[in-house]
Formats: sequence, structure tokens, C-alpha cells
Amino acid sequence: MRITIASGKGGTGKTTVATNLGLALADDRPVQFLDCDVEEPNAHIFLKPRIERTKSVEKLLPRVDEAKCTYCGECAKACEFNAIAVIGKKVIVYDELCHGCGLCRMVCPVGAISEVPHELGVIEYGVARGFPFSRGLLNLGEAMATPLIHELKQGIDPDSLAILDAPPGTGCPTIAAIQGADLALLVTEPTPFGLHDLRAAVGVARSVGVPIGVIINRDGIGDDMVERYCADEGIPIVMRIPFDREIARLYSQGIPLVDALPEWRDRFRALYDTTTMKLAREDGVK
Ligand code: SF4
Ligand code: SF4
Repeated sequence: MRITIASGKGGTGKTTVATNLGLALADDRPVQFLDCDVEEPNAHIFLKPRIERTKSVEKLLPRVDEAKCTYCGECAKACEFNAIAVIGKKVIVYDELCHGCGLCRMVCPVGAISEVPHELGVIEYGVARGFPFSRGLLNLGEAMATPLIHELKQGIDPDSLAILDAPPGTGCPTIAAIQGADLALLVTEPTPFGLHDLRAAVGVARSVGVPIGVIINRDGIGDDMVERYCADEGIPIVMRIPFDREIARLYSQGIPLVDALPEWRDRFRALYDTTTMKLAREDGVK
């Protein structure tokens, strides 16, 4: 079973849900936690992992031997990402646009292109509160988060319940974190902005065929538009976290809800044991 916690934008309480779900469930079953928010991972604040090893994630960048190059332009024609250009007697590689796919090297008729490794970031592996924890850390200035998320997902143990804290938004990194999940829990707020971002997140989850449950955080502020939207779309609201001073205080101090308020441990277990499993079964997950 794989559950991805996502939201259309940052700051909605996605990591609160992911970390508390992991902590609440780890007592009864094997759990592993993957922080896929590689630009700004913050699950470690709540889970306080001990990191045991790291792995570099690289892409291969093309480098052109101008002594061999005939400036035929085949490499630029083949590149889908406009990452290589031939301008007169010059070949320019735009490293930040390059996906490291190697196609330009393959099509070069004179073998003028070689590849050099370039580090995008690292994956850290460790243990948090007795269960496996991993996270990606994108290097500063790098734009390509998706390869780190793919690498993180390579480490998923099929015998564990994997909880993935997705990057915020609706771009490729979020899609990479949701794709292949048995369930996406979308965290939102009951406000017009929350609804706007929820719609986008629902679109992403549906585009990759993943069943959805919605969690309303800061319940009590705003209006009922999120509820009406969910009712219209047939999307279940599987949990509500109230707008509450004590919850906000715990969050600001990096204290998991389930540690300070034991009733939340039961609520997160119930979320999984009843609603979540029901949702997954309805969509044919064994
Ligand atoms: S395909 Fe090879 S020879 Fe042609 S322009 Fe590109 S690097 Fe030069
Ligand atoms: S490796 Fe792929 S993405 Fe990069 S320049 Fe070559 S063809 Fe384009």
C-alpha cells in the first residue's frame, strides 16, 4: 500500500498529515516514510530521523568536442527540450534545460558528444522513530526535482505501508510523487484559495488514475465551498483538522499531534483503518 499526501500549494498542513499518519500507524504495521518535497523537505522537523547513508543523484550532461563537430545540427533537431543549439560554428548546451536523456549523443553522426555527470542532489536514508525514513535534497539552483523523486521511490519496500509527502503544487514533481500510489490524500483549507488549489490537485490525481480523499485543515475558517465542491465531485472528505490554537502551537514547535494529543493517534489510525482502506478497496486495491 502506498499513500501520497499532497496539496495544490504549500503551507496547507500536508506534512502534518503525512508525519502524524506515519507515527500513528507505525505501532501496528511496517511503515516507511519518504519525504518527496525535495526543494523544501521538512518532515525531519517532526520525525527527527537519524541519517545513516546518502546517495548522489546525477544527470549526464552532453559535452561537445568541437574538433570533431561538423555543425550539422542533428543534435539540436533531436532534442525535445531545446537544450542544445547549433549557432553558426558554435554548439551551446543549456545545462539547466537538459534532461540528460542522451539522445543528442546517440544521433551525432561523428561521435563528437560525450557525457559528464552532474549532481542534482542527494537522497538521505535513515531511521525515524523506528521506521525507515528517506528524503531527497535538491541542490541549490537546480530545477530538476523529478529524478530525485524517482530515485526515492526506487527504495519503496513493497511489504511496507509507504507514506509519501509530495511536493506542493501540480507540476511534474508532484505528479511523480502521486503516480503509482494506491491513494492520494489531498490536504486543503476551506477558503477560496484552498478550493482553487484543491481543484488543481484533484486534476493531477485523476490524470494518473489515483483515488482521492480530501482532508480539510484549519476547519472552521472560511466557507463551505470546498465541501460543496467535494459533494459535487463525489470526493469523500476523510478527515477534518480544526483551526485550533493548541494544534498551531504544537506545529510551530515541531511536536507531532499524535505525541501531544493521544486522541489524534486514534483519529489517524481510524482514517487508515476505515475510510482509507474502504476507499482503496472501492478502487480495486487489494
Ligand atoms: S550532431 Fe554532432 S556533429 Fe552535428 S552539430 Fe551536433 S555535435 Fe556537432
Ligand atoms: S541529453 Fe537529451 S535533453 Fe540533454 S541536450 Fe541532449 S537530447 Fe537534449
